Amino acid sequence: MKTTTLLGNTSNSPKEVKVPMNPQPQTDLQKRIQESVNTHASKTQGRKQDYLVIHCTATPEGRNVTSAEIKIWHTSPPPKGNGWKHVGYTHIFHLNGGVEQLVANDDDGWVDTWEVTNGVAGYNSNSKHICVVGGLSKDGKTAKDTRTPEQKKSLEKFVKDFHKKHPTVHICGHNELASKACPSFDVQAWLKSIGIKNPKIY
Ligand SMILES: [Zn+2]
Repeated sequence: MKTTTLLGNTSNSPKEVKVPMNPQPQTDLQKRIQESVNTHASKTQGRKQDYLVIHCTATPEGRNVTSAEIKIWHTSPPPKGNGWKHVGYTHIFHLNGGVEQLVANDDDGWVDTWEVTNGVAGYNSNSKHICVVGGLSKDGKTAKDTRTPEQKKSLEKFVKDFHKKHPTVHICGHNELASKACPSFDVQAWLKSIGIKNPKIY
């Protein structure tokens, strides 16, 4: 009797394609993202993000600052730099409004160990730090809100997107956590002016 098989036979089965479950990371960033995916399964590493802290580079009005300079200032051994293990900020806002990312960040509301930046002593494990280029008048000494219209625009977009995603994270200036002039403008007044209801956390 003739039989029909609906399942077909193995010789007609599609070839099995072997997809590696954990492909070897190609770049440092991919490696860190992979590590993040692995650690987030249990959330055993890092801390919940409590603060988004705004800084300035404390450089004279109109002077451009490159990410390479910031890396030297923060991570080179003294006297050239501070000798920190981590750079101080996750993102910098250039005079022309460009936003540059210095440290990998998955923006998931947690501060993973690989995302830590050295912005404010005592607030680094639960904060992310961002930085606006400028903050001093042309004399290089006096604190001044030197934000260009382009910087204000890109900072506003960044902060609004961030707040939408993380409404419980408190956004503040470095000067609210330490006795500093940084970032040389009143962050709370500015947040109010752009319609952000900043949560108080403590
Ligand atoms: Zn600062």
